[in-house]
Amino acid sequence: MAVVYGSSRGRGPELGFADVLLTGLAPDGGLFLPTTWPSLPESAASLPTSYVPSSYVDVATGVIEPFVAGAVEREQLQAILVDAYDTFDHPDVCPLVQVDEGHHLMELFHGPTLAFKDVALQVVGRLFDHELERRQQRAMIVGATSGDTGSAAMEAVRGSEHVDIVVLFPHGRTTEVQRRQMTTLSDPNVHAIAIEGTFDDCQDLVKAMFSDEPFRLRHSLAAVNSINWARVMVQIVYFVWAVEQLDRGRQATTFCVPTGNFGNVFSGHVAARMGLNVNRFLVASNRNDVLSRLIETGEMRAEEVVPTLSPSMDIQISSNLERLLYELLDGNGPATAELIAGFRDHGRAALTEVQHQRLTDEFAGDRIDDSETLAIISEVYETHGMLIDPHTAVGVGVAQRHRQPGEQIVSLATAHPAKFPDAVEQATGVRPELPARLADIFDRREDYAVLPNDLATVEAFVDGLSVDGLSVDGLSVDGLS
Ligand SMILES: *Cc1c(COP(=O)(O)O)cnc(C)c1O
Repeated sequence: MAVVYGSSRGRGPELGFADVLLTGLAPDGGLFLPTTWPSLPESAASLPTSYVPSSYVDVATGVIEPFVAGAVEREQLQAILVDAYDTFDHPDVCPLVQVDEGHHLMELFHGPTLAFKDVALQVVGRLFDHELERRQQRAMIVGATSGDTGSAAMEAVRGSEHVDIVVLFPHGRTTEVQRRQMTTLSDPNVHAIAIEGTFDDCQDLVKAMFSDEPFRLRHSLAAVNSINWARVMVQIVYFVWAVEQLDRGRQATTFCVPTGNFGNVFSGHVAARMGLNVNRFLVASNRNDVLSRLIETGEMRAEEVVPTLSPSMDIQISSNLERLLYELLDGNGPATAELIAGFRDHGRAALTEVQHQRLTDEFAGDRIDDSETLAIISEVYETHGMLIDPHTAVGVGVAQRHRQPGEQIVSLATAHPAKFPDAVEQATGVRPELPARLADIFDRREDYAVLPNDLATVEAFVDGLSVDGLSVDGLSVDGLS
C-alpha cells in the first residue's frame, strides 16, 4: 500500500510521493506528512537473535520503500541508494563508535561535504533526477545557505542532466572550506553566487524569486530545503541502523540529537512511530535554545539569533517544528495552522498541559554554550583521543549531563571535525586534517559570481545561465582567498 501525503495545515489535496518530492511546501503553506505511518520491516522491528546485520543500503531500502511506493520501484530505489552511498568513504556509511560504557556516537559525516546533510541529500538529489527523467522535465533548484546545506545540495545533483542548481551564500561570511566546497565544482549545472549581504538577505532573495511567478515558471524552480519531506524520510534510516548495530532493539535506545531546524530529530520521532524501540530523545541546542525552552516550559518564544561555535544550529524558528506540533495536536491541521500563525504574529505560542505532557514524555532538551562546547571537545580528546566538531560536542554534552544509570545512548555526530578546524584547534591544540578526498581543496580553481543584494540583478544573472541549455560562466573569481 502506497503512503499518501497531506498537509500539516489540513487543507488541500492528498498527494503521492513524486509530487511531494518536487513540490516541497504544501499548497496551503503547511508541511507534507504521511497520512498513515508504515511499520518498520520485520527484521528491523523484532530481530531474531540469530540475525546477521544487513548492509546500510538493505536497511535503507526496507525503511524507505513504503514511503515511495507508486513512484519508485524497489530495484530502482536500491540502485539509487547504492549509487548515493558509494560517495561515502566508510563501508558502514554511518558507523557507530563507542565513547563510554553505554554511550555511542553515530558518525553521519562520511559523505562528500563532511556533514550529515549528505546522508539525505545524496539520495534526494538522485530521486529528483529519477522523477524528472520519468517526466522528461528539467528543474532548477534554488537555495540560500549559511554554509553546510548549499554544498551538500550541489554535490548531490552535480552532473545531473535534469537539474540545475543555484546557491546563494553571503559574500565573505562563510568559512573558506565551506566556500571552496561550493565554488570548486566544475560541473556546468552547478552555480554558486556570493551575495553582498547577510544570510538573511540571501534567504529573502530566494523567497522573492519563488514569489516571482513568471520567473518561477520560466525556470521550474524547486527547493531541497529542510522542510522537504524526502530529506526527513531518508534520515529515518540511520536511527534504525543504529539500533540494529547496537543490540537489535533488545534494550530501548535514547538518541541525543544536536538540533537546529528539528529535521534530524523529527526523523527519529518517525522511526519511533514506525515501531523502533526508542526510550526518548534528547534535543541538544546551543545558546539558540528555543527548542529546549519549549520542552521545559511548554511555551515557544523566539529570541534574537546569536552566533555560536556551532553555526548550523544558530536558528530560532525551526522549520520542522510544525510537523511536531501537528503530531502533538493529534493531526488537527486547522489547530496547527492557528498555533503557527500565533507564533508568527506574536513571537510566542503556548501548548496546553496535555500537549506539553506528551512532548515531555518523548523529549527532553538542554543547551550548551560556547565555553562548555570547547570544554567538551577538550575533555573528549583528553579522555578518548577523539576529535569531535562543535555541533557533535553540544550533543555529547547534553548526553553526558542527562544520562541516567543504565541508559543506552546514541549521540549523533553531525559534522567532521575538519569542517570546523578553528574551534577544534582552540579546544585541543590539534588542527584536524581534512580527509584525503578534500585535501587539495585549497589548490582547486574557484568559479563563482559576486552580485549585489538586488533581486533584478540576481534574476537577470540566472536568466543568463541557461541559453539553449548551455551554461554561461559567471563572473569568474580566481584565486580569491
Ligand atoms: C544542519 C545541521 C544541524 C542541525 O540539523 P537540523 O536537522 O536542522 O536540526 C546540526 N549539525 C550540523 C553539522 C548541521 O549541518
